[in-house]
Amino acid sequence: MKRTTCRVGAAAGLLALIAAAAVPARAGEAPEGPDRDSVAVGRGGAVATVDPDATEAGMRVLRSGGNAVDAAVAAAAALGVTEPYSSGFGGGGYFVYYSAAEGRVHTLDGRETAPAAMREDSFLEDGEPIPFEEAVTSGLSVGAPGTPATWERAVEQWGSRPLQYVMRPAIRLAERGFTVDATFNEQTAANAERFADFPATAELFLPGGAPPEVGTVLRNPDLADTYRDFARHGASVLEGEIGADVVETATAPPVAPGADRQVRPGLLSAGDLADYEVVERDPTHVDYRGLDVYGMAPSSSGGSTVGEALNIIDTRDPAELAPEEIQHLTLEASKLAYADRNAYIGDPAHVDVPLETLLSEDYARQRACLVEPDSVLAAPVAPGDPGAGNGDGDACAPSSAPAGPEPEGPSTTHLVTADRWGNVVSYTLTIEQTGGSGITVPGRGFLLNNELTDFDFRVSETGAGAANLPAPGKRPRSSMAPTIVLRDGEPWLALGSPGGATIITTVLHVLVDRVDRGMTLPEAVAAPRLSQRNAEQTQAEPGFFDTPEEKALSELGHVFAETPEIGAVSALEFLDRGRIQAVAEPRRRGGGHAAVLRERGWEPPGPGSGAAR
Ligand code: GLU
Repeated sequence: MKRTTCRVGAAAGLLALIAAAAVPARAGEAPEGPDRDSVAVGRGGAVATVDPDATEAGMRVLRSGGNAVDAAVAAAAALGVTEPYSSGFGGGGYFVYYSAAEGRVHTLDGRETAPAAMREDSFLEDGEPIPFEEAVTSGLSVGAPGTPATWERAVEQWGSRPLQYVMRPAIRLAERGFTVDATFNEQTAANAERFADFPATAELFLPGGAPPEVGTVLRNPDLADTYRDFARHGASVLEGEIGADVVETATAPPVAPGADRQVRPGLLSAGDLADYEVVERDPTHVDYRGLDVYGMAPSSSGGSTVGEALNIIDTRDPAELAPEEIQHLTLEASKLAYADRNAYIGDPAHVDVPLETLLSEDYARQRACLVEPDSVLAAPVAPGDPGAGNGDGDACAPSSAPAGPEPEGPSTTHLVTADRWGNVVSYTLTIEQTGGSGITVPGRGFLLNNELTDFDFRVSETGAGAANLPAPGKRPRSSMAPTIVLRDGEPWLALGSPGGATIITTVLHVLVDRVDRGMTLPEAVAAPRLSQRNAEQTQAEPGFFDTPEEKALSELGHVFAETPEIGAVSALEFLDRGRIQAVAEPRRRGGGHAAVLRERGWEPPGPGSGAAR
């Protein structure tokens, strides 16, 4: 058995230790039994998020007749209160929406943008990239937030309730407070050192100088006020006093006197906030086993990379493949798709992205011909040549891809909603790192993002990274992959995950597990997860080791690196007779929460119920 242990940072290691003490099973192991918190079945609408308060905020809006869009924004705003280190008012994200009335999928790109003053070399000093952890906790990495404009646009364009109504549950939650759970406590502890260096952050998240104890109530009246202003005036609050505070905080981060930390100032201006626009984009689309899979187009690499990998897998008939052969093909497909992602995906306003070719079946066939049934492609593999119309020449050229997978943190959050009319939302949002920049806007109750660290700071010696260099007004490449799948023209699945670059592989594996490997959706969400991102080693959760599958794949030549946790999926599936199954993460990050409007027919998922069609 080839097995290595992945290096994890001290904070992640500490998190894993605490998490291990808090939950009975290891991450990635199937739950011992069906869990009523993480799976709900019924009719009339559904919500799944990582947090019971956020799920309840969405449900409250559905119960009072709001639609899936209203519920998604209500739940996201609640997550800004209870999961402020994963997402919030100071961040960005991607909103994917199926409109039942139109029978089509829309998407909103609410990604943060670089300031107009940002330059290609803004993250370099003396020609060298600044240390990554210093870039994280800086004003320099703060992009113009996209989340306020996303919420406003979604509710205005597709919602059925005014923003003031939709924001109400989150305002109440911020005012009254929420009960601190183990995950919140751990995330605060892991960030405590840097939070302490910013008085506004310390005041909010380190009451009495320490992480709030599990079971205590944490209130955020400043955020309640910010939300109230936003509910009244929409995203234009970023052009008023709140915006002025954001700019001041990013350009002159308020560091505690005597703090021994270099916090670089940001470049954000009032003009950047005023110029911010959420972009409605065509979704990515691939036909996978006769299903229509819709995802997020660039500036995210989520839809294109999941789509390309699915197209490669779709060149083989699953009926002819054993489960471990499907897994081998999936790992090789994600390796190849990642090579293309790294080479070609960037903000399409700045980079010519060959999206159509990358998602074409012809191109997938060229890439698929590289996959051998009985051996493993040496990683990193080279990107293909979508411009040549024939990928096989350059596909075998020496690699220009990075050498190995960096551990990805469990930041970001994903939620899904559905309503009685058949509308569906799949929404991933973030402030990038867990805790974002660590810098709270004084008096406003929210953390600023550090999304601009998703840029490549410079082109590598082998030429990788050019598509994703910083530039004025550019959106850094994301991996967020909110996905909606239609079957026979009707919504069937919605899913997504946090986890940085592992988001793509998580979404890919859940889809393949559900569609090709006979798992039910709860089984696919809980299954031990793998992440192959064009590296020599495939990251794998502990529950994968010592299984027959691991043995078979290792014999083929796959090498696995143990990683404590990968992703945390929220998903839903339309079952028969109008029933919806909402599925939240059962264990990872302390488990999520799924709910349906009228619970009906909940039963432990039985064997065989995993067949897609
Ligand atoms: N910034 C990441 C992205 O857009 C998400 C953050 C994370 O999940 O770690 O891909």
